[in-house]
Amino acid sequence: MATEAKDQKYPFELPALEYDFDALEPVIDPETMRLHHGKHHQAYVDNLNKAVEQHDELQSKTLSELLSNLDVLPEAARGAVRNNGGGHANHSMFWKTMKLNEGGKPSGSLATAIDSAFGSFDDFKTKFNEAGVKQFGSGWVFVIADGDKLTIQAMPNQDTPFHKGTEPIFGNDVWEHAYYLKYNNRRPDYLKAWWDVVDWDAVAERYERLRQA
Ligand code: MN
Repeated sequence: MATEAKDQKYPFELPALEYDFDALEPVIDPETMRLHHGKHHQAYVDNLNKAVEQHDELQSKTLSELLSNLDVLPEAARGAVRNNGGGHANHSMFWKTMKLNEGGKPSGSLATAIDSAFGSFDDFKTKFNEAGVKQFGSGWVFVIADGDKLTIQAMPNQDTPFHKGTEPIFGNDVWEHAYYLKYNNRRPDYLKAWWDVVDWDAVAERYERLRQA
């Protein structure tokens, strides 16, 4: 199995998409998938490599280590690692937590944690979508585990929970490049539709791992 992006070291590599570009139709169109994975994510990987190749002392560090210790990075690399390393980590998580779910819902301990933090699955989705709509400009909405407790956190640009020493359980990309071809400026419509492509099995596995971290 390929190394998870967070455990990769320089040179970083674009993870293969584990499904076809049309696998998330009709929620996400194939052209958006092709550009998003092959161009946008690839550019984050390439630019992260360019930043790290000039700093030998960074080449022994994993992506997770780089992102959770921005303060100690050389100033010349810090911004590029923050943006492009964050982009690499966030998108690698994103591809692995999507699958056409045909109206599926979370179950088991994940469902319990959602109900306990937000009241119900519907309330959770409403709060998550609101956070995504309110995020000004580009960014992400993440769900993070603080012990057993779940929280929703919107972050700008390619910022990531890795900066705080944790990682997202899952999250949605609200950059225009994630939705503009199909949804144009209608971010709220994209956020609503996206629930049909959350891979709840993959998310539950991540929750089980991260709640214990
Ligand atoms: Mn993106």
